[in-house]
Amino acid sequence: MSDWTVHDVGPGVVIESTPVGFAEANCYIVGCPETKTAAVIDPGTTDRTELDAIVKRVGELKLTVRFIVNTHGHPDHLAGNDILKRKVGGEVLIHELDALKLTDPVRNASRMLGLDVRVAPADTFLDDGDVIEIGTVRLTVLHTPGHSVGQIALLGAGFVMTGDTLFAGSVGRTDLPCSSEENTIAYEVLMQSIGERLLTLSDDTIVLAGHGPTTTIGEERRNNPFLA
Ligand SMILES: [Zn+2]
Ligand SMILES: [Zn+2]
Repeated sequence: MSDWTVHDVGPGVVIESTPVGFAEANCYIVGCPETKTAAVIDPGTTDRTELDAIVKRVGELKLTVRFIVNTHGHPDHLAGNDILKRKVGGEVLIHELDALKLTDPVRNASRMLGLDVRVAPADTFLDDGDVIEIGTVRLTVLHTPGHSVGQIALLGAGFVMTGDTLFAGSVGRTDLPCSSEENTIAYEVLMQSIGERLLTLSDDTIVLAGHGPTTTIGEERRNNPFLA
């Protein structure tokens, strides 16, 4: 049984999420109500019941999936790519610096967690500044390395999907393999990404994080202990 949270980020876009997989990563459906097209962000589960629930919800919303987007190359965000793609289609997108993590359980840290997660290569690589067009919904790719070298955030109108970079009251860990090109500076890279790419957004920007509850940039600027 999946519980879907409806995120009211404003008119012209449908966003719903449900936690999936061993790490309860938030899997998001982003839909354009006008064109009935959608993207699924971070289907990080191989559990058939959870994947069926995503397929079912996409169907209930009468959406056609155009894209499957991984905010970065960790198993809790990508494990369901292949199964979901077989069921609903869609082009798999990931930042090129995390592309090799899709097919390599050592690089994607699943081996370290006692798992063996590997999925098919991406269809298209993303880079900073790219715009993913889901009908009339535009998501701009912000490269935010630190937690993972190819981590991205997706900036929409009034909201930002931060993956594992920024959470309500916390920030992403930087001790995983390939967190950044230079692991020793990964934390500094993460904080630079947050400071330069996320905290520069307006206070009322809704933050849809890769794990945990929704927050806002202003709330995190004021109360996140890691940003003090
Ligand atoms: Zn991660
Ligand atoms: Zn995660």
